[in-house]
Amino acid sequence: MKISCRKCSPNEVFEIPNFSLAEKKLLLEALNVSGLEAIKEMRKLHRITLRNAKFVMTHINIEHKKCNRCAYQLNILEYTSCANCDALNLNWNV
Ligand SMILES: [Zn+2]
Ligand SMILES: [Zn+2]
Repeated sequence: MKISCRKCSPNEVFEIPNFSLAEKKLLLEALNVSGLEAIKEMRKLHRITLRNAKFVMTHINIEHKKCNRCAYQLNILEYTSCANCDALNLNWNV
């Protein structure tokens, strides 16, 4: 799927894999360790460029329905933009 972030890369589109639920869980666990760990896991699971993996990593919500940038309350959509700061959120419910 293609995603972009109005906040940090309004003119750029990133192609990202369709992660399975199990993969999302794994990535969130890795992200709790470190961003680097999440990128490493992502690149083990899928063919994704370092740049795109980094983009995904920085937009995953640690906490469901809470903006990764400003902690604002989000809707329940899985891929959504924050109504407060406009940042893209990978709002995975795992
Ligand atoms: Zn962004
Ligand atoms: Zn926000």
